[in-house]
Amino acid sequence: MRREDIVGLDKRRVWHPWTAMQQYIDSGDPLVIERAEGARLYDADGRCFIDAGSSWWVATLGHGHPRLVAALTRQAERLAHTSLAGVTHAPAALLGEMLCEAAPPGIARVFYSDNGSTAVEVALKMAHQFWRNQDRPGKRLFVSLEQAFHGETLGASGLCGIASFTQGHAALVRDCLHVPVPLDEAGCAAAADALDRLLAERRDEIAALFLEPRVQGGAGMRIFPAEYLRRARALCDAHEVLLVADEIFAGYGRTGPMWGCDSAGISPDIMCVSKGFSGGMLPMAATLATERVFAAFFGGIDRALLHGHSYCGNPLGAAVAIEVLRVYREEQILEQAAPKAARIAEGFRRLARIPGVRRPRSLGMIGAVDLARTPSYFGATGWRVAERAQQRGVLLRPLGDTVYIAPPLSIADAELDEVLAVLEEAVAAAWGE
Ligand SMILES: *Cc1c(COP(=O)(O)O)cnc(C)c1O
Repeated sequence: MRREDIVGLDKRRVWHPWTAMQQYIDSGDPLVIERAEGARLYDADGRCFIDAGSSWWVATLGHGHPRLVAALTRQAERLAHTSLAGVTHAPAALLGEMLCEAAPPGIARVFYSDNGSTAVEVALKMAHQFWRNQDRPGKRLFVSLEQAFHGETLGASGLCGIASFTQGHAALVRDCLHVPVPLDEAGCAAAADALDRLLAERRDEIAALFLEPRVQGGAGMRIFPAEYLRRARALCDAHEVLLVADEIFAGYGRTGPMWGCDSAGISPDIMCVSKGFSGGMLPMAATLATERVFAAFFGGIDRALLHGHSYCGNPLGAAVAIEVLRVYREEQILEQAAPKAARIAEGFRRLARIPGVRRPRSLGMIGAVDLARTPSYFGATGWRVAERAQQRGVLLRPLGDTVYIAPPLSIADAELDEVLAVLEEAVAAAWGE
């Protein structure tokens, strides 16, 4: 198909996510991606772009990793799908074992689903019913951090701390309690005190605390200290509240270690994984739990978790997710990424020299800056930078006034240097306009 035919059909039929469609149809000039390899995307005009955001944070191993393609192909020839209700298969069983081994200590059980929001939805039900099954049905409130993002289904939206994200459907959403996030070490004590007060006051009503360990992605890459995670873990224990770690973005080495929780040496009671879970190849997610959480669901069907999706534990996704874990181990993905993380840190320190650039920050394979005093998702400065970067072959998607990179962990050093150089140029140029 020719490029203009694809765009014509697209503008006639496709409703894009997070997109003002009138403007898109009137003047949008979408990239038409034809293929991808490693950290690069190739479009219908033969142009090549470095995928600096890992295609919405999923492609942690880049695109088309030969081992993942081979695992997918092998599995497709054998068994593409069967339900997981009263049925099992090798990929689901083996992945469960490998995932629990890779997870923080204490995580022992895996509930499969097929996208990040759904993994969070399962965690909400699991946490609530955990208490109900122990005759404490009053524990039905949830706490999340200010500026939290946990996905887009209605339950997950209820945890969201970013008003602009939920304004269109706020009336449908059951709200939750929010606590402040410490953005530096100095703020940790006050934030932990606030959490302590809330959990103490409402311990009979609160089921769980949800958090994105170490970095609030959707909020604009807000990084917070590991110390807060340790405090939160201790407070949840003291007040009988479950700790749910949403590792959907932070996991799989995005923040440095395998899990965001690892940097604090803590284990959650429930943990959500997706995105890097299947290396960006298939929709796949899981909600993991400790044996204690799992055991609360023993007994008759009235105590069981009555939840499940058509594609739970899909064999294709599971086969790819197994191969992802093997590639992480055998290609030493985390070890290889460490010096790249240092390059990102250095590159973002350099960016800070450009006047008007605020709050340069980095953590693992993430770097971000703000281009406004009070950054907003509806701000336009980031888009000016992204447009320039795209002209120079680097694909970014800003969060309003926040510009960030979150490239594949496997990106080559030369590609990463190119991303950083282009970004510096684009920020300086956009600022001069
Ligand atoms: C992306 C994301 C989600 C939602 O995952 P989807 O697959 O987009 O539904 C939830 N939590 C966090 C922290 C995320 O980054």
